[in-house]
Amino acid sequence: MAFVETRDFIQVTANNGKTNFSYIFEGNEDERLFNSKIHKSKMKYYIKEAVNEFEEWNKKGYGIYFLPNGGGYKNDEITEFRACFIDMDIKDEIEHEFVAAGFTGTPNELHELVKSKFYSLNNTEQLNYKQIFRCRVSELKKRGIPSSAIVETKNGFHVYYLLNNDTQRHQFETLEGFLIYIFNADMAVKNPARLLRVPDTIHLKDSNDPFTIKLEEWNRSIRYDSEDLIVRLRKVVEKVHAQKDSLLCVNSRKAPTHNTKLLSKKNGLPLRVGIDYSSMTIGNIPLISKGFEGLSELKRRLGLDNQDDLCYIDRDDIRQFLKKQNLKQLLGVEADRFYCIFHNSTNSTSGNIYPFDDKWFYKCHSSRCGVHYDIVQTIERITRLPIHKAFDYLKELYNIAEIKTDWQLDQERLIEFNIEFLERFKYDVDLQENYPYLTKFLKTKGTLGLLIQIHEVARRKLPQLAKMRNMDSSNAIVFAPMRKVIEELLSENSDIRNINKANTKVVIMIFMYLLNCVGIDQLPDEMQRRIEQYQKESRKNSNIHYNNIARYYEIVSMDTERLILAEEMSKFFYQNHLTILNFNREQLISLCGVEEGNRVFPDRSDEEIPGLNQSISQEIKRVVNKLIQVKGWTYDHEVIENIDISDFDMKQRYKDSFKYIPKKKSVELDSLTVLDNDVGFQKWRYGFLAKKLAMNIPAIISNQEYRKARVNKLLRKQFDIPIHIKGFVYHQEISEQGIQLEDKASHILRLKQHDLSLSNAKIASIVGCSRQYVSNILKCRD
Ligand SMILES: [Zn+2]
Repeated sequence: MAFVETRDFIQVTANNGKTNFSYIFEGNEDERLFNSKIHKSKMKYYIKEAVNEFEEWNKKGYGIYFLPNGGGYKNDEITEFRACFIDMDIKDEIEHEFVAAGFTGTPNELHELVKSKFYSLNNTEQLNYKQIFRCRVSELKKRGIPSSAIVETKNGFHVYYLLNNDTQRHQFETLEGFLIYIFNADMAVKNPARLLRVPDTIHLKDSNDPFTIKLEEWNRSIRYDSEDLIVRLRKVVEKVHAQKDSLLCVNSRKAPTHNTKLLSKKNGLPLRVGIDYSSMTIGNIPLISKGFEGLSELKRRLGLDNQDDLCYIDRDDIRQFLKKQNLKQLLGVEADRFYCIFHNSTNSTSGNIYPFDDKWFYKCHSSRCGVHYDIVQTIERITRLPIHKAFDYLKELYNIAEIKTDWQLDQERLIEFNIEFLERFKYDVDLQENYPYLTKFLKTKGTLGLLIQIHEVARRKLPQLAKMRNMDSSNAIVFAPMRKVIEELLSENSDIRNINKANTKVVIMIFMYLLNCVGIDQLPDEMQRRIEQYQKESRKNSNIHYNNIARYYEIVSMDTERLILAEEMSKFFYQNHLTILNFNREQLISLCGVEEGNRVFPDRSDEEIPGLNQSISQEIKRVVNKLIQVKGWTYDHEVIENIDISDFDMKQRYKDSFKYIPKKKSVELDSLTVLDNDVGFQKWRYGFLAKKLAMNIPAIISNQEYRKARVNKLLRKQFDIPIHIKGFVYHQEISEQGIQLEDKASHILRLKQHDLSLSNAKIASIVGCSRQYVSNILKCRD
């Protein structure tokens, strides 16, 4: 009879058919070390032949096991959860007795104590323990949850509850947690790939006292829907808590940490398992998990109902306010350390809420999870609300009103209009024709995008500015520290050259009146304080060696008056051969005077131009003038070759240029001799002078009324320019007579170069040719 029942039990529980059996050596500890391998049988039915095999392995000292769940052999591989099970063991009871009696030693001491008590038990005492176990199983049965199978082992019982075949992993895990708590069962026996003993085989761990495993009860018709079983076990746990005399749930240290549930597939997230906060028994957490539905009750509990609204302008301030709220009080947690609420922790001290400075934080100390949250993130996860709704939830909870000042609303509209207008430069042909030079500038790579981004940053900073005193009364202005803006735009690790280039573009925008520069002393006090702090921090990090580190700009209205001015400045920029690469303060001052230099670079108004630069400028001017006076024209290479700056120790400057290269010691460099024909030095010197020339030439051309142009037939003829000279040359104005010699194509190009706004039709009428010819020539030029 036993054989038939066991066969049925194994086949129903394991696989409705064949299964592998596992053989694990059970000798003393030393022997076990040499026989640690688990032997697996072939897939087989539980038949007489299998039983014979078990006897042979038993004789060799092996215990016989089977795997109730299926889908694989490792915990992660298991996909079929056919039963949940627990292992009640006398040692667990003894341990609980010691702890309940107030044991305070180390886990090792406890272990030794349990072992010695266990081995001193006599038969009657052992049977008494087993009797307690039986009572527990039947108490749960009386509460409407009978077991499917009870297997008696040497020191206790395995109890099984068969599950429907749609059971999910998280349900299995939740059930194991509940059952272990209810039965004070072995915490280790809960893994999906758990091997359990086969009835009617022999337990051999104590070879002097072998024990035959017995199937004590078996009822294949008792089977549970997992979700239903979870609900029923949860009710049992709740009821038992209220009853003192129950044998169930005796060991609070085994209370299940958190239940999980299958989260629905939404917001583009896959189906996945998460903590079920609605069933959590901690303070306000189930209420918080209801989201807005539970909000009024939560406010009542926290005493936050019937309070006046707090008004805030800046969302960042709201965030700061929220972070100061007592997180322990909000969640209703009393203990300092507890099971982390964001993962299924086995450590009762993993979760921790603590105040730091005047703010509160949640920290998990488990390496598996390790979250570190502020109040907003904590609420986001418990409510599972989208980011903005979670924020609204907290605002409502703490009676916070987010308001906008009139100034802020006005500025938002201005920025919005500006951005819309700037976007039109991308496609609006009429606009491009109205402002051809400005269009040319804005269309240089990334420039328009940069200007729009500056507006976006300004928009983001509006709330911060809105709450500053004095802003309301001032003109409509917005500030942003430009270096920070540029770094943000170009991403943290973009190279310094790109930052410099963007910075220069922004300076040119000031020059063109597309932005205003504001001196720090004109800013509200609060902002000046912030700048001070920002500069202090930057100096601490010492990665920036600029003095224009916190230049502040004001967003201006892109109205027609301003754009006319912007177009004029753009025209000036291009007609004077200014470029983004050569634009700087010295050049601006020599072209437009000190006043203009101070408008664009107000923070550098006290700065003197370095002596070296002044002398080099003088020398370049001298060389260019001399060469053009002698033969009417010159070009870069010739100018550079003729520059004489022997007064300056160029070699020392060359050596100095190495000082910023890490690992090169300045002492070594100083003692280094640079030869005149040193190729590196020659190259550096040429490059140095070429840069200075590019910087100085626009002012020279402008002041002397020279021209800069690509060599063409007319110029070659006029000035006798040798054929090997190509590219740009600087030259005197060509006489009327000369222009007559100019061919039509050059004439067209010259006209367009001089004035971008000239239409093709206008050019055609001046030159005396067809419009088609003009458009062909201009196309070739590109
Ligand atoms: Zn955690």
